[in-house]
Amino acid sequence: MHNQPDQTRRLLLTLPLLAASSKLFAVSPSAAPAKEHHPVKPDRTLLLKNADMIATMDHERREIRHGSILIKGNVITAVGKAEELPQQADEVIDLKGHIAIPGLINTHHHMYQSLTRVIPPAQDGELFKWISNLYPIWQKMTPEMIRVSTMMSMAELILSGCTTTSDHLYLYPGGCKLDDSIDAAARMGMRFHASRGSMSLGQSRGGLPPDSLVEDEAAILTDTQRVIERYHDARRGSMLRIVVAPCSPFSVTQDLMRESASLARSYKVSLHTHLAENDNDVRYSQEKFNRTPAQYVEELGWVGHDVWHAHCVKLDDYGINLFARTGTGIAHCPCSNMRLASGIAPVRTMLNAGVNVGLGVDGSASNDTADMIAEVRQAMLLQRVGFGPDAMTARQALELATLNGAKVLNRDDVGAIAPGMMADIVAFDLNRPGLAGAGHDPLAALVFCNPGTVAYSVINGRVVVEKGQMTVMDLDKTVAQHNALAATLYP
Ligand SMILES: [Zn+2]
Repeated sequence: MHNQPDQTRRLLLTLPLLAASSKLFAVSPSAAPAKEHHPVKPDRTLLLKNADMIATMDHERREIRHGSILIKGNVITAVGKAEELPQQADEVIDLKGHIAIPGLINTHHHMYQSLTRVIPPAQDGELFKWISNLYPIWQKMTPEMIRVSTMMSMAELILSGCTTTSDHLYLYPGGCKLDDSIDAAARMGMRFHASRGSMSLGQSRGGLPPDSLVEDEAAILTDTQRVIERYHDARRGSMLRIVVAPCSPFSVTQDLMRESASLARSYKVSLHTHLAENDNDVRYSQEKFNRTPAQYVEELGWVGHDVWHAHCVKLDDYGINLFARTGTGIAHCPCSNMRLASGIAPVRTMLNAGVNVGLGVDGSASNDTADMIAEVRQAMLLQRVGFGPDAMTARQALELATLNGAKVLNRDDVGAIAPGMMADIVAFDLNRPGLAGAGHDPLAALVFCNPGTVAYSVINGRVVVEKGQMTVMDLDKTVAQHNALAATLYP
């Protein structure tokens, strides 16, 4: 090891940790972290050196020209001008010609849906028609499909700059379990918030899903408790947390919403669901519950720092103020909202009111591209379509996918490149055709232009993409497996 301790210590002092303000859950006595397949050694040093630019997203939002980042084990120990950092380490990656940014954070997804992309009867409908045409196909899902589609989706996300992701798995036919997703995430080495979703309200009881695809509520709660106790790791730097996540107001009962909240809070884990996605969703809430979506979740206790809701395209002013006051988060999914013609979420208004809004790609049956850096672009563009050219800048859009995403997931250890943060960093090659001519502002170019896939990705200190290639899997083999499985669902 060849780093310079004094220099590192000085940088540590001048660049204080992010954090402190946001809450971190205490370690649950029952936490039993899933085994990480390829952890890095705690004293191994990795130097990412000579980057043309490092966009830190730290307190001062520093953008460092010709910078380096030093990592020890899975933690960033120093970031600064290349000449001020050590020149050697156990492993060195030269980032000349690249821009480094914090790994992007995806706060909403349904990874199994990558098996059912562009299904013809579900290409052109709005939410309720779209989902009703897909339920019968999803009914044929198997545990192998969950594992392979999770690996496939994670590969797609990682190549697009994502290092932390949530997944919302809410249907469990044919013996499928959340454990199948968790196993895939451990293989991929991705930081994972696994949402134990659920559906309990079948068509015969006024819900949208077929009766055959819903679960018994007692069984849902028992299994949710099981996965929390088995897997949830609340510690700083956690690679795996469990989230309690009934699917939506139109697919579960109010009882299950209440019980889920109380279960989650007894274990100090987060809560997640879909809310106010489009006009039909709001109408359903008014007709069934005589409540707006905001009133509905407020009454059920589904607000607070430990809760985030996907979409909220139609969240009203009361809801926006409620979310701001209570610290309730939102996963904004611009591509899915456009694809299903749900509308334009008032993200600028939400941010101005003090609501924390992160970004999500949503499931691949309604996006149908799990590309995080492209989603950042769409978030910026869609706000401008809705609310004018100054509604969102490139840097603000990138903040949604980094700092805000971390906060949505109740984390203060990812989302920025600063000493003490976990080593989740991605780098894009600035010499790609899609970025040509934009060298005067490479950070804005990442959002305005098409940067393609990442050249490098480091997750938890481990290099998972090197020179554009995944190092943790046989990508071609997984694509072939995935396509064969997809063909059995929709021949
Ligand atoms: Zn969704």
